[in-house]
Amino acid sequence: MSPRDFLTDFAHMSSFGATAGGGIDRQAGTADDLAVRAWLREVYASLGLTEYQDAIGNQFGLKEYVPGAPYVLVGSHLDSQPMGGKYDGSYGVLAAVHAAAGVMQRVADGAVEPVLNLAVVNWFNEEGSRFSPSMMGSSVYTGKLDLDDALAIEDHDGVTVADALAVEAIQPETEPISAASYAEIHIEQGPILERSGNTIGLVDTTWGAKKYTVTITGDQGHTGATPMDQRKDALYGAAKYIVAAREVVDQFPDGVLHTSVSTLELFPNSPVTYAGEVTINLDLRSADTEVLAQAEALLAEERARIETVAQVEISQQLTHQWGLMPYQPEGLALAETVVRDLGHPFQRIKTVAGHDSTNMKDLVPTVMLFVPSRDGFSHNEKEFTTDADMLAGVEMLTGVVAKLVTGELAD
Ligand SMILES: [Zn+2]
Repeated sequence: MSPRDFLTDFAHMSSFGATAGGGIDRQAGTADDLAVRAWLREVYASLGLTEYQDAIGNQFGLKEYVPGAPYVLVGSHLDSQPMGGKYDGSYGVLAAVHAAAGVMQRVADGAVEPVLNLAVVNWFNEEGSRFSPSMMGSSVYTGKLDLDDALAIEDHDGVTVADALAVEAIQPETEPISAASYAEIHIEQGPILERSGNTIGLVDTTWGAKKYTVTITGDQGHTGATPMDQRKDALYGAAKYIVAAREVVDQFPDGVLHTSVSTLELFPNSPVTYAGEVTINLDLRSADTEVLAQAEALLAEERARIETVAQVEISQQLTHQWGLMPYQPEGLALAETVVRDLGHPFQRIKTVAGHDSTNMKDLVPTVMLFVPSRDGFSHNEKEFTTDADMLAGVEMLTGVVAKLVTGELAD
């Protein structure tokens, strides 16, 4: 496949779930997600990759070189956030397809001698917007999330993951694909590479993350008639906690802690009745475990204070977390050899966002690569990466996968 084919494929792929503002809205298991998955199935077939879908909807395209040997997996995710960008995840899947095609060509030419098998993968529901938690497909694959628990998770309309996947009418394979190593390329989703002028980021660590569901319970009442001192207004309590979650960041040096509340449900959500119950999420991220622990302690104090002031009860439950595990140094060294040979400007970088590679690196040696994001926009239609950077990333990923299939990172 030539560079032109990549850009043509990218434009076509971006038409699935395209939004007016140049992004995509392709949440996991929706009609648009299923349509782009059907397209990927055709792409696999056109390259001679055998489709292999597991029970959580991870969509593999297999190229077997050595019967019985484990696979070098390369991929990312085709699902998106609501009104998201067209590069997040999707770029990585298409780059994986083209990298696999490039490696298959090198094998056919006798330039690469594989000792492992090769598979492209589109992980199901990385985004976790319709079905929470995020990184679902790779979490089930790596044994961090129980399959039946994941299949039973419901979206807002009560549709389960199992229901959404059943629409594809594909009989899932039950035997897991055994992995030897994993490679993924993704847009940075931050401004660091653009600012430094580097084309390729070699990811050495993932920031830690803790995600919670927070329920603020009061007692609903009349917005006009109820005396102010008698009110147990859950939305008032939630508002105070949302502010506290934002301002706790100021207790730490710049850039050390990221926090967000990004969802809110209130009951009964009526103009004449103040809320009796509000549910929000809370997302804490840091590259420093101690900072995360301090932030949690500070927020616990805030919760106690707000419970008194707003006359509400606040309960907070951990729903998803990942630690600060570094990526394997051997993978970084391998990627550095490739990037030096290609001559692209590069640097080491941390990922603030979680990725499927965050899961995979705990299972097998993993190489994670970044290409620049303009102005750091992500989860937004304004997400943008230049064609030149995308193509450099494909070239880079191809070089990495060519080494992986020769068993360089396998033990
Ligand atoms: Zn992503």
